[in-house]
Amino acid sequence: MDDLRCHGQAKSLHAMTSLLIRVTNLAKRYVVGEQLVTALRGVSVDIAQGEFVAVMGPSGSGKSTFMNLVGCLDSPTEGAYFLAGDEVSRMSGDTLAAIRNQRIGFVFQQFNLLARTSALDNVELPMLYTTVAPRERRERACKRLAEVGLADRMDHHPSQLSGGQQQRVAIARALVNDPLLILADEPTGALDSRTSLEVMALLQGLNRGGMTVVLVTHEHDIAAFARRNIHFRDGRVVRDLQVEDRDAAQSLREFDETAPDDNAEEIA
Ligand code: ADP
Ligand code: MG
Repeated sequence: MDDLRCHGQAKSLHAMTSLLIRVTNLAKRYVVGEQLVTALRGVSVDIAQGEFVAVMGPSGSGKSTFMNLVGCLDSPTEGAYFLAGDEVSRMSGDTLAAIRNQRIGFVFQQFNLLARTSALDNVELPMLYTTVAPRERRERACKRLAEVGLADRMDHHPSQLSGGQQQRVAIARALVNDPLLILADEPTGALDSRTSLEVMALLQGLNRGGMTVVLVTHEHDIAAFARRNIHFRDGRVVRDLQVEDRDAAQSLREFDETAPDDNAEEIA
């Protein structure tokens, strides 16, 4: 299905818009005992501001390694990485941590929320390491939670929220420092298909508002919500395609007549 809707090389379509991510000849090798494991072998990708990219490929193909490098969680063995014009591949330690915290919003498969902490405090967390004053922290966290439809759940702890709601809290947290991009590694991997649609509708909405989104998925239906699919295999990019006629998660949700209403999946 995804092959039918994808055709044409993702070329310099975005040459007119501003380049957000440029990686050239990125290589990553790990030393494990006496073995050298090559996770990435010369990856070059440009991503413009406002793109919505799904990274695909079999297990072990280098997707997470790629995301970790783009997310400044790790440094490449070889190659260069420019984020909004800054060469982050030359940075290390505190500088890299500051870039990560200020410019990138992360969303994970398992949500990674603090358990005994309210949704509001979870969303405020990334601002603790900034100069934002406490009152403004609270206001910004409230605003982001309202944007993801959780205005009435701010005091709930993760265990009092459904999976979809927890992922929405995580997305609010990812947005709270006004990042340049959202990086999501299998954001729907722990969710049922209906809740996945809800999360994808949210990400598509953010993207429509101009947010750059890069997500990893192994599901073709999820990748069909992106505008561009980059396929990895054995540490290399093997396909890079624009998605034609991409699906709108919101309208698929509306089509899903058998779906219970929003509150039905809540945990009592
Ligand atoms: P994917 O996310 O596509 O499943 P990964 O990027 O996690 O792939 O892994 C790519 C390759 O690199 C795999 O062979 C994996 O075993 C190896 N690898 C990933 N992370 C590490 C690490 N921290 N140490 C050693 N090898 C690793
Ligand atoms: Mg992975």
